[in-house]
Amino acid sequence: MSYVDEVLERVKKQNAAEPEFLQAVEEVLETIRPVVDAHEAEYRKEALLERICEPDRQIKFRVPWVDDNGNVQVNTGYRIEFNNAIGPYKGGLRLHPSVYTGIIKFLGFEQIFKNSLTGLPIGGGKGGSDFDPKGKSDREVMAFCQSFMSELYKYIGADRDVPAGDIGTGAREIGYMFGYYKKLTDSFEGVLTGKGLSYGGSLARTEATGYGLLYLTEEMLKCNGHDIKGKTCLVSGSGNVAIYAIQKAQQLGAKVVTCSDSTGWIYDPEGIDVDLLKEIKEVKRARLTEYAAQRSSAEYHDKAKEGTNQWQIKADIALPCATQNELNLEDAKKLVANGVIAVAEGANMPTTADATIYLQQNKVLFSPGKASNAGGVATSALEMSQNSERLSWTFEEVDSKLKGIMVNIFHNIDDAAKRYGKEGDYVAGANIAGFEKVADAMLAHGV
Ligand code: GLU
Repeated sequence: MSYVDEVLERVKKQNAAEPEFLQAVEEVLETIRPVVDAHEAEYRKEALLERICEPDRQIKFRVPWVDDNGNVQVNTGYRIEFNNAIGPYKGGLRLHPSVYTGIIKFLGFEQIFKNSLTGLPIGGGKGGSDFDPKGKSDREVMAFCQSFMSELYKYIGADRDVPAGDIGTGAREIGYMFGYYKKLTDSFEGVLTGKGLSYGGSLARTEATGYGLLYLTEEMLKCNGHDIKGKTCLVSGSGNVAIYAIQKAQQLGAKVVTCSDSTGWIYDPEGIDVDLLKEIKEVKRARLTEYAAQRSSAEYHDKAKEGTNQWQIKADIALPCATQNELNLEDAKKLVANGVIAVAEGANMPTTADATIYLQQNKVLFSPGKASNAGGVATSALEMSQNSERLSWTFEEVDSKLKGIMVNIFHNIDDAAKRYGKEGDYVAGANIAGFEKVADAMLAHGV
């Protein structure tokens, strides 16, 4: 049996109840086969793949907090420090009811390779909780964040593990967590990224994931003979990634006609009004029904009632920016039938494995999230640099570095795919390029 198959079997046996983690591991190991084959004896002797698939450390803890009625609520907190071969653990905190070990493990595993692709010195980690900030008062969110940090602070630090935002964790949550870390440790340090601008945050960090997605998409299209200008785009989601992806797509001359939230999706053939979307989602924290109520060109579709989603709309480019496995084989078939040219993932693993293969087989340009959404964490690393040198850079400086990083990522994954005879397979290219650097560092460090 090949070394990859041996390790896959072992990982499947040990993590049977964690389908998202298995999906992520399977995709990576399957696509790095040619690299592993070329180094089989050495990797096997060093147990390199077993080590890369097992987190350095998994922290799981109780998070009790008091709600507005004076009742105690209990959530579970997680931080999985997956791999620090190339830098301190780095990755966001997801606050969503679906969170359990398997979700945090898949995200932490993906983060290792994503962070490596940025070319910056950051390792892979992820954390979060099954706490749902939706519908909670500011005081309740603060109570949760303080309780969460009262355990997490023991394991993190500017040179050790640097968490950030993810689904459910935005500027408000980062602020409360940072404030409590400072109180507990008496240390004002760059322990979190995505901080507010008044206390060490970086300009362009808020926009970075969405902007970065478009910088990479533009480069991928250009290198394959297409111009993003004039193209129609579908976006899913309406959070931080989606909002700034829509804004940058429009700045580059594309038209974005959809967005979505957990219950419904918007079709706006005139193009999404980003200012209105920002107002509704960031200021009012309201539903997309509100967007349709305020904009006459927009249709609102209820996902559960209609059994539909935005992938049925005809477009040139699809940018899934919501959550894992939101674009399945049926959706991929609709996109292909409607002539889609490119799919670039803004979320982490939003496309199912069979949908990814279908898109690639049908010659759709496909960029995996670990490449195309790496702009967020890359800019987090730029925030860490600014904190270390006690300086802050201008928006233009950060944005131009971000653009350079995204263009570089595209060329690295393109080259890696070509080196192993997989031209145009950016999934393989991203996994290979991300893996090579981490593998080198792990081998250099010994066991
Ligand atoms: N949560 C983001 C991601 O999935 C950003 C992580 C960070 O900035 O550390 O990459």
